[in-house]
Amino acid sequence: MKVRVDKTKCIGCGTCIAVAGDFFGLADQGKAKIIKQPQTPADKDVIKKAREFCPTGAIIIEEEK
Ligand code: SF4
Repeated sequence: MKVRVDKTKCIGCGTCIAVAGDFFGLADQGKAKIIKQPQTPADKDVIKKAREFCPTGAIIIEEEK
């Protein structure tokens, strides 16, 4: 799996960091950024959960595998 944040959609709400703080951090201008790509199945579940909770659809999973 490869994940990225669409900074044009991110509003910096911090939900992804609350849900998956190992993978998301704050970047410039208060937007979220990926700090680690998911590796294990458990990691991927956490990323999917963060995507579910993101209010603006800014979390993009580019490769599902
Ligand atoms: S949950 Fe979505 S909108 Fe909120 S900080 Fe994370 S990527 Fe940005």
